[in-house]
Amino acid sequence: EPVPSSATRDAVTEVLRRVFGYDSFRGEQEDIITHVADGGDALVLMPTGGGKSLCYQIPALVRPGVGVVVSPLIALMQDQVDALRNLGVRAGFLNSTQDSNSRREVETAFLDGELDLLYLAPERLRLDSTVHLLDRGKVALFAIDEAHCVSQWGHDFRPDYLGLSELHERWPDVPRIALTATATKATHTEIAQRLNLGGAKHFVASFDRPNIQYRIVPKASPTKQLLDLIRTEHAGETGIVYCLSRATVEKTAQFLCDNGIAAVPYHAGLDARTRTTNQSRFLREDGLIVVATIAFGMGIDKPDVRFVAHLDLPKSVEGYYQETGRAGRDGQPSTAWLAYGLTDVISQRKLIENSEGDTAHRRKLNLHLDAMLALCETVECRRVQLLNYFGQTGEACGNCDTCITPPESWDGTVAAQKLLSTVYRLDKERNQHFGAGQVVDILLGKQTEKVTQHRHDQLSVYGKGTELKEGAWRGVVRQLLAQGLLDVGGEYGTLSLTGGSDEVLFKGRKVMMRREPEKVARASYSRPS
Ligand code: ADP
Ligand code: ZN
Repeated sequence: EPVPSSATRDAVTEVLRRVFGYDSFRGEQEDIITHVADGGDALVLMPTGGGKSLCYQIPALVRPGVGVVVSPLIALMQDQVDALRNLGVRAGFLNSTQDSNSRREVETAFLDGELDLLYLAPERLRLDSTVHLLDRGKVALFAIDEAHCVSQWGHDFRPDYLGLSELHERWPDVPRIALTATATKATHTEIAQRLNLGGAKHFVASFDRPNIQYRIVPKASPTKQLLDLIRTEHAGETGIVYCLSRATVEKTAQFLCDNGIAAVPYHAGLDARTRTTNQSRFLREDGLIVVATIAFGMGIDKPDVRFVAHLDLPKSVEGYYQETGRAGRDGQPSTAWLAYGLTDVISQRKLIENSEGDTAHRRKLNLHLDAMLALCETVECRRVQLLNYFGQTGEACGNCDTCITPPESWDGTVAAQKLLSTVYRLDKERNQHFGAGQVVDILLGKQTEKVTQHRHDQLSVYGKGTELKEGAWRGVVRQLLAQGLLDVGGEYGTLSLTGGSDEVLFKGRKVMMRREPEKVARASYSRPS
């Protein structure tokens, strides 16, 4: 392993300061950049916002020739190139969206040695014309951005990425750097293998965000809970509130404004002018809250976001991590707060059921949701659970909600049996399927119109669950769903049994559940100093 020369270190630091205007490198940036600048191959795993771009941009500027960046994000290329040009970096892109004139301009600039960085869509590299172009110019390095797209089992597979394994055979002397924010061990290995990066040095950044306090609370009246959070802990501070639907975004922003809190909405349904205005106000002003769908945030870099709140359950842990990761970029204490309830699970399952794509695709979406549910229902440290998800380890953080107020776990086997046998009897004896509300009403022995109408008061399970309150029963349903012991689907979110339910009903399988702390003592949430 050659030690990078001090000349290389000096050169990259000079470019960091002169071109990008930053004082110092972050995390492993310096090691990665000097390694690649000296001609080494690298595989970089770094969370979103970690600063991956500089890892190839600076070596491209330091090495002779043009840095060729392969990226699937065609829609972002123009922005990336504009941003670089504003810094005085000579950048261009080649993709299918441009006309032949601007394509020729970029090609000429490349051949004349008048480019520092060239962004390419992966399918371009399949074209002989592109290969010949690269052969006639000088390539400083290949950067393969979003490298997880090469993984056939990942969520973002692009067939064109498979062709990138040939870069090394064709240009053996050109260093390659592959970058991704998806860090499961399996993806990591697959990337190295498929991109032929056997000799590359691996740089795996930690996904730990110690200054973020993760909290996931039962959803009761979410907007009021949010208002309470803002007033008691984040008054006058900058924050992002994520909601699933445009309607909830509008309603929530209005609710905050009505309560004297500066908030603006942001979603794809607003006209472009309003979106731009709201986004730039958020970036410029202190203490403004943006209420948004997940359309908001890509490329947003505001260091002092003090809290990120989710009023609806994110679809995946990756999404949750990325969105909460927008809090506390400045390293100061920040809050990631999520309100989550049974209706979230039901509506998400329904969305998946109605989504386009084949069974395999829906299965994948369900697995992503399962992982998110497991994070919500865990009795372990949230931060450790997040790290584990990304294939990393850590110690209980002492700062998240489960660390501060450890939820008790209780033996919920009997409750599970009662609930599942209600679903079982409705199915077997009546050939009926009902949602959680009706099932819980039956267990509680309620005399509702719907109970009478369907003669559910004659079921043997009727009124057999009065030891738990309604809220607790909804918690039981939620946790059974999260553990795969119950299924929900259809237009009305009807409950049905799974293979796992049979084990509980007939094979004595034990079910442990999480008991929500009655009331989380707010005073105990102290910020780390
Ligand atoms: P990623 O691609 O990993 O999501 P980016 O490369 O977009 O992250 O970087 C995220 C933000 O951090 C950008 O605004 C970038 O300018 C900033 N940044 C990166 N490195 C540094 C640094 N060494 N010092 C200050 N800011 C940095
Ligand atoms: Zn913790």
